[in-house]
Amino acid sequence: MDTNFFQLGEDSPLSRIKSYFDALQNSADEYLFAIDPSAGQVMLSKNFLRDFNFPDTLVEDFAALLTPFVWHDDREILEGAFEELNSAAPGVEVYGEFRLLNRDGEYGWVTLRMTAGADEFGQPELVAGVIARMDVKQKADYVTGLLNRNAFQVALMKELNSSPDAHGAVILIGLDNFQLINETYGFEFGDNALRQLAQDITNILPPDIRLYKLDNDMFAFFVSEVYPEEIEIIFSSIQLCMREIRNIDDTIYCTASAGAAFYPDDADDVITLTRYAEVALEFARQKGKDQVAFFDSAFYDRWRYDLGMQNLMQNSIARGCEDFFLCYQPQVDAKTGKLVGAEALLRWYDRDGSVVAPMQFIPLLEKSRMIIPVGHWIIENAVKTAKKWHEFMPEFEVSVNISLYQLEEHAFYDFVKDCLDRHQIDPRRVVFELTESHNVYDWDYVNKQFQAFHDLGIKISMDDFGMGYSNLGFLKNFRCNQIKIDRVFVEDVLNSEYDRQLIKHVVMLCHAVGMEVVIEGVEDEATYIYLRDVCGVDIIQGFYFGYPETEDVFAKRFAN
Ligand code: C2E
Ligand code: MG
Ligand code: MG
Repeated sequence: MDTNFFQLGEDSPLSRIKSYFDALQNSADEYLFAIDPSAGQVMLSKNFLRDFNFPDTLVEDFAALLTPFVWHDDREILEGAFEELNSAAPGVEVYGEFRLLNRDGEYGWVTLRMTAGADEFGQPELVAGVIARMDVKQKADYVTGLLNRNAFQVALMKELNSSPDAHGAVILIGLDNFQLINETYGFEFGDNALRQLAQDITNILPPDIRLYKLDNDMFAFFVSEVYPEEIEIIFSSIQLCMREIRNIDDTIYCTASAGAAFYPDDADDVITLTRYAEVALEFARQKGKDQVAFFDSAFYDRWRYDLGMQNLMQNSIARGCEDFFLCYQPQVDAKTGKLVGAEALLRWYDRDGSVVAPMQFIPLLEKSRMIIPVGHWIIENAVKTAKKWHEFMPEFEVSVNISLYQLEEHAFYDFVKDCLDRHQIDPRRVVFELTESHNVYDWDYVNKQFQAFHDLGIKISMDDFGMGYSNLGFLKNFRCNQIKIDRVFVEDVLNSEYDRQLIKHVVMLCHAVGMEVVIEGVEDEATYIYLRDVCGVDIIQGFYFGYPETEDVFAKRFAN
């Protein structure tokens, strides 16, 4: 190694800063160095000798000294950094990341930062620099300045070990729409929002309670000797400061949810407690956000079951939707009782081979956005099957359920158009049943896609009319070709004159504006007759005319 040991000259720049450098190195975790470029001398902090096989704290060519310790593939980075330093203006920081060999013979990632300072004539005089190990865990969150997850865990561990009967609660707070805020207003705005909230929440908490920042948009603290009611009170004050987040030219509204788990009742170790508080936070969100929820083991079991199922479905999607299949339920012309089409209904095989009903897994597919790939698979298969059946019945209409959510996908229209083209099917033989879905963000876009499918000639049906979103208000904005009256209106048709009148007048209303009416859930002949003769509905679907059946079983209908 080409390094010479030397003494510092009495009035050299390095000896002038030596006492300052010594004081600094005693309190710093990082490795410090200072270079006097004109003399070619370098001063290193002592920890370099402690952790690396460096010869001395005073050396000559720092780059040459470092190079053999740097992982061979990273040497270019080091070389580049020193070249950059030579041409960089004073005050400009040079940065590099590479792997450095320590005393134990292991390579570890480090960051190198160095900046040249200028003398009174503007000439580079001293270079000050720092090398830091990346694996030394940071303790503070960069954005909010709060202590982070590591520090939280250490403090909580101390609390739990403080006494054999320590009791209290871990509380996590998450912003409900942080992702949306970031996407809409940019990360800088998001960071600003987090900083403001960190400040506001800190001000609300009693002085002996410390706020921590876990990942992304989640805050945490723990309180000893606390009752659920007290947590609710703390949360309401936090809610008050959540309402407004201001930026220079924007004020946006933001809510938060919280989850709490108690020690030692729910758990008594750091990892489980934090996890349970996260589960409780998820519970609060599922209950509609903007509230606090407490850990609940029944919810936890259900949640874990859902996660397991989600995981299995993910695998099955990766294998080309292998465990999914479609059933078809007949739809008949009310007047003639003749088959006019079918609704495609999704099913899924669980691990044990049992068939899972859609109400159990569609919400999961929607929440995880897996409905997007599965939705493509459904359309592809329903259209392919309908095309086959057109050989026996050219007017056959296939109805496919579409979560409104799917209309938010930008590539959806092109996919559908391409699918119909490939299978050479008339768009007028395809019906999209719009089903209720949660989390529709972009109604403008949904509106546009809706119109585009309408223009393509696909029939649009509003599923579950009279329930949830599916109402007159919706019809005002979305012009549909068909409505499907929900099953609950059918149940009492035989006994309730009121229900019959209700259906009859909905049918009249729809006919007046040129819409077809389908009614589902018809299970017996008497109901069918009423709906046909008294109410005047157009199409009937229900167990009376057929259950949902697999493709092969359904196809036998064409043989008759
Ligand atoms: P939906 O679209 O309103 O489908 C009608 C549901 O009523 C089906 O349940 C069907 O089996 C059931 N049904 C039909 N006739 C009768 C009857 O006479 N009596 C009774 N008791 N029930 C009847 P299923 O298959 O469990 O589907 C439930 C819901 O799941 C569907 O309601 C739809 O919202 C959703 N779904 C099913 N398949 C899909 C799909 O491929 N994509 C999407 N996005 N949602 C789907
Ligand atoms: Mg439907
Ligand atoms: Mg329905």
